[in-house]
Amino acid sequence: MSYDVIIIGAGPAGIFTALELLRQGYAIDDDHRILLVEKGKAVEKRHCPKAEVGQCVSCKPNCAITTGFSGAGAFSDGKLSLSCEVGGELPNLIGEELAQELIDYTDTIYLEFGAAKEVEGITENEEIKEIRHNAIKAGLRLVDCPIRHLGTEKAQQLYYAIQQHLLDNGVEIRFNTECENLLIEDGVCKGVTLRDKDGCTDVAGNEIVIATGRRGADWLEHICAEHHIAHAPGTVDIGVRVECRNEVMEKVNRALYESKLIGYPKPWKNKVRTFCQNPGGFVAQENYDNDLAVVNGHSYKDKKSDNTNLAILVSHNFTEPFNQPIAYAQKVGELTNMLGAGHIMVQRYGDILDGKRTWQKELSRSNLRPTLKDAVAGDITAAMPYRAMTNIIEFIKMLDMVVPGFASPETLLYSPELKFYSNKVKMDENLDTNIRGLHCLGDSSGWTRGLMMASVMGVLMGRKLTEKK
Ligand SMILES: Cc1cc2nc3c(=O)[nH]c(=O)nc-3n(C[C@H](O)[C@H](O)[C@H](O)COP(=O)(O)OP(=O)(O)OC[C@H]3O[C@@H](n4cnc5c(N)ncnc54)[C@H](O)[C@@H]3O)c2cc1C
Repeated sequence: MSYDVIIIGAGPAGIFTALELLRQGYAIDDDHRILLVEKGKAVEKRHCPKAEVGQCVSCKPNCAITTGFSGAGAFSDGKLSLSCEVGGELPNLIGEELAQELIDYTDTIYLEFGAAKEVEGITENEEIKEIRHNAIKAGLRLVDCPIRHLGTEKAQQLYYAIQQHLLDNGVEIRFNTECENLLIEDGVCKGVTLRDKDGCTDVAGNEIVIATGRRGADWLEHICAEHHIAHAPGTVDIGVRVECRNEVMEKVNRALYESKLIGYPKPWKNKVRTFCQNPGGFVAQENYDNDLAVVNGHSYKDKKSDNTNLAILVSHNFTEPFNQPIAYAQKVGELTNMLGAGHIMVQRYGDILDGKRTWQKELSRSNLRPTLKDAVAGDITAAMPYRAMTNIIEFIKMLDMVVPGFASPETLLYSPELKFYSNKVKMDENLDTNIRGLHCLGDSSGWTRGLMMASVMGVLMGRKLTEKK
């Protein structure tokens, strides 16, 4: 059995590759077929048991939050960043103009499939001017980024509509099927080895697109090493998820919806930034392979909490002799998990400054109640490297000048928040790797880090494959 195009991973990058192929008039028949391979379930079958049992039960073989049709997107917050300044380094590869053009085009597809019409963060009013003024005084850069917010529930409906559209138009989707390896001979990728409940099968294909997301970044790193796929170690972000009362964030939430602030605190001047702000949101746990528990944040369109959460991320780059950023971040995560007995750890900012751990009973003494109920109070500084911790503390002090009260003693810091974008696969502007017929997209390629940019890379891939045909 042979396919024209085999796409591994049904996250936004993989889905939009197939979608754009169809939109560009790709005709599927017995000789021209598209296969989409996904190790998780169909979108309507994805279900996180946490809603019933109240805590993460580390589902096996796959976590429903990060695997299945629509990838990490379906259960995500569904915030589409509409600026090419946000979402990864793809603009460096294809140029800012094309990246922005593709964002605008991809946005229309999201609208066609039911995304909400409103766009947040486009008006420049007196409040925003004041926030920017304070950011300048604090030494922070405020990045402008319009956001289309799908909301977690709406995102699932939207991706379900896309899934059915692909199936109705002849795209073959194999769920619960994992790509184990690539079939590469003499510098040409000729297919993939797939594993499902019945065992392994080799499947031939002319064009192989790998879009395995953050979860697949580790796997892809091994595949790159095994098959000499040109790549370079990328960046890894290590940080915390910060939670405070909505009252503290009120002005910024109202004026900006999502504040993207970047700073370079002393003494190292590493890049530190805010990410994924969830007004009225909920802190969440997600589990990566090897039972690594990491923290994230959600916000729902209709269900709101009293708190706002956002990530503070410190970028880490390594040169030599060490060049395994993913392994480094994993070790930090494992150490934190070990101290939290397998749970996400939470500590009050004031306790960090006072050099003491936080006790569970102390959490109930604050105005602020943690939205991640199964987080364990402890001492995140016992696991966080000194440099990352100092960067986070200094950045929080800077943020306090923009958001007074942010550096309050009761502010909660959850750890570990890790973002693996590593292993940047070397590609040209046609998304060709050094292996003929092999392309790598989305978060696993190291070029994107968000729903919109991953979708855009898929759209571009769909166009490039149509041109080739
Ligand atoms: C909780 C959460 C909230 C988020 N919120 C936002 C947000 O609001 N805005 C935003 O822009 N981004 C957000 N993100 C990030 C966003 O979801 C990702 O950047 C985006 O989904 C990346 O798309 P992708 O297609 O590259 O990978 P993914 O969406 O991760 O999809 C990859 C798919 O490949 C599958 N896969 C992996 N390995 C294999 C294999 N070997 N064989 C077969 N299948 C495989 C996985 O099961 C997965 O379904 C969030 C992420 C999470 C986890």
